[in-house]
Order: sequence, then structure tokens, then C-alpha cells
Amino acid sequence: MTSATSATSATSATTPRASYQRCATCGTQYSDTDALARCVSCGGLLEVVHAPPLLRGAELRAVFAARRSDGPGSSSGVWRYHELVLPNGGAHVVSHPEGNTPLLARDRVSSYAGVSGLLLKHEGHNPTGSFKDRGMTVGVTQARRIGARAVACASTGNTSASLAAYAAQAGIPALVFVPAGQVATGKLAQSLAYGARTLLVKGDFDACLSLVQQASERLGIYLLNSINPFRIEGQKTIAIEALEQLGWDAPDWLVLPAGNLGNTAAFGKALREVHELGLIDRVPRIAAIQAEGAAPFASSFRHDFTTRPKVKAETVATAIKIGDPASFDRAVQAIRSTNGVVSTVSDAEILDAKAVVDASGVGCEPASAASVAGVRRLVKEGIIRPSDRVVAVLTGHVLKDPGALLRYHQETDPPPQFANPPVEIEPTIEAVERVLATGD
Ligand SMILES: *Cc1c(COP(=O)(O)O)cnc(C)c1O
Ligand SMILES: [Zn+2]
Repeated sequence: MTSATSATSATSATTPRASYQRCATCGTQYSDTDALARCVSCGGLLEVVHAPPLLRGAELRAVFAARRSDGPGSSSGVWRYHELVLPNGGAHVVSHPEGNTPLLARDRVSSYAGVSGLLLKHEGHNPTGSFKDRGMTVGVTQARRIGARAVACASTGNTSASLAAYAAQAGIPALVFVPAGQVATGKLAQSLAYGARTLLVKGDFDACLSLVQQASERLGIYLLNSINPFRIEGQKTIAIEALEQLGWDAPDWLVLPAGNLGNTAAFGKALREVHELGLIDRVPRIAAIQAEGAAPFASSFRHDFTTRPKVKAETVATAIKIGDPASFDRAVQAIRSTNGVVSTVSDAEILDAKAVVDASGVGCEPASAASVAGVRRLVKEGIIRPSDRVVAVLTGHVLKDPGALLRYHQETDPPPQFANPPVEIEPTIEAVERVLATGD
């Protein structure tokens, strides 16, 4: 039974019992309303476990499908799957709404990447322009459920933009910690615009993360970083929604940029769960792509995850400029359980792939293009086959980082491969003709 408001009602016919939190390391269980950043016994990361819905397989698919045309209460591409996200969000749900992002096919991008069946899951279509909204709608809903008086995060920019927007909607004060001088213009602008108290920390992202954890403990502020397990629940819906868009016929690969590894972890958890529920009968392989200068997860992968390196991160793709990823262990599980791979791409490869995605009319921010650059690299290495069905996630909107974009197109020493520099002219028709005659 579904109604227009079922996606936001307290429970539904498909969700019999409650949820709880569990330490992924030692297994200690906590109530779903405990406001813990980490496991009290061992410091491990927490995960949320929901009672399995009463329905499975085709019946559950039908429930999700019905909600797509079910009116306002189902307009969120996160809460449409609330049984798998937060069954008891109930009246607390803070939704923009978000999700329902398109799966795009573009010939130029496909042929550049070398995969004819390439699809782009464009998370830049979310309300604040990145996939972070999918996690934040759940995180801020949880903040309301537990009566948090303030919320905080450390961020490379998109998490803070998203937190600022959802906290504003919920009427909860937000505090964000971002690395001074290292946040893309669009993201910093959003955080200020939506009214978050914005702290420019004289340090890198890893320093911000450590600072916000201390602050949340000392000041009793609810922490909404990606180690927050409720955000992971929301981010699962990127993969779930893509699978539904494909008629639950799983692709061969899901490819995504990887920084702090929350999203990689979310994809792994989503795929395990939808497979167990009989929503798909084959698990796609995850390919997590890091920037060469910020690739501790990729180097660990090359050593079969027996090492856990930390690096001083350096890359033009600021959203994945992270040297000590917080969700490392969860992400290892995601790669292992999907027979996945972790690879790297250079900044030049990222920017060229971005220019191709942009020029196809789609557009994305630098970090997002790591997924397309990664597909291209993995095809060259023979790991992805040109005939494979591949979904590459574009994580953020083209306008997030206008600085990097303008630098690429205006670079002259030498001009990058796909540069489209603006041409300055005198205000005469002859000048226009001269430019058009030279063909550039
Ligand atoms: C946050 C973010 C990433 C990285 O995701 P992680 O969960 O940190 O690995 C990639 N791209 C964009 C645009 C992001 O905002
Ligand atoms: Zn523990």
C-alpha cells in the first residue's frame, strides 16, 4: 500500500521493525538514536542496520516503481527507497527534494572513454549540485530525530554547501570547517549563502576533519561528516537509483571518484543489500578512481590492502584531495565484496576528461571527471572491456569550480588538448569575420 505521502510517513507496510547502529569493527550495537561519532568500545566506524523489509525481489521493485509516479511525497530519489535508507525517518524528514538524477549517454564521452555503452549518472543535478545532498537529507533528518542543537562538518566544499542548505531548511545552526584557500569558489559561496558559520582553517582537509571531531565532542555538536553512518545510508541511493533506471539489470561496472571513501563505502553497502534482497541477481564491479597525487587507497589496493598509507594530498580535483581517508576500512570491504578495482589518473587526464564531458554539453566539476578518465585508463589497461556496460558517476556540477575551468581554457603555455579560449575583439563586424575566417 502506497500513498502520496508514504515515502515520508513514519512506517509503511514494507518496514516492520526498527533500525540500530553497529560498530563495523567490533560489532557492538547502539540504538539508532545514539548521537555517536564512533564506537565507544573500540573507536571503529558505525554502520546503520535496518530490519529487512517484508517484501523482496519483484514485489519490492514494484513498490519502488509505484512511488515514482506517486506525487509529491515520492518526489525524492532518496526517500522513495526509505525502507533501505531510514525506515523510521517519519515526520522528521528534511527533503529538498533530492536525487532523481539522470543517466545520460553522450557519444563524445563514450568514444573518448573507449566504451560504447557508457552511461553518466549525473549527481550534479542535485539541489546543491553534488551527490552530498543524498547523504545530507538523511543526516539532517537524523539530526532532527535526535534533537541536535547544532550540526557540523569538515569539508572540501561540497559537504559544507549541502549541510548549510539542509540545516537552513531544518532551522538548525550549522558550523563548517574548510581548508583556507583550497575550496572551489562555487562551494564556498554556497556555504556562505545558505548561512552556515564558515571557518577557514589554516590547514588541509585532514586537519579540518580532526578539528571538527574534537569540536563536536567538546561542544556537543552533531557531527555530519561522511563517517556519520546515516549519510552513507542516503548515498546508497545513487547506486540503487541507477540500478532501478537500468530496469535492475546490473551493469558490469560502477565507476566513481574516490577521496574520503564514504561514497565507495556506500556503493558497496548498497550493492550487498540490493543483492541480498533479490533486487539484482548479479553484483556490478566497483572501480574507485583516485587522483595520482591523493591516492592512498589505490596504493593500498596494489598491496592487497595490507597497508594503510597516509599521503600529503595534491591534486587539482579538490573534492578528492584527501590524504587520510576516513572511510578506508568500509571502502576496502566495498572493493572486496564487489571484486572491484582501485586505480589512479593524473591531473592532466582529469582535466582533459572534464573538458570532453563539458564540451558534450553535460559538464561536471574536476573530481567528477576522474570517473570518466578512470574508465579510459582501465580500458587501455584491458581491465574494462570496450563492450562492457559501464555507469560512471559524475559527482558534481560544472559550476562548482569555475576557477579550474577558466584556467584550463585560458592556459597558453602550452594550451591544453581541448582548450576553448575566449577571443577578445574590437567591436567591429570585420573583427568578427576575421575570427570566424581563422576557424579558431
Ligand atoms: C565528496 C566528493 C567526492 C568524493 O567522495 P568521497 O565519498 O569523499 O570519496 C567526489 N566528487 C565530488 C564532487 C565530491 O563532492
Ligand atoms: Zn567497536
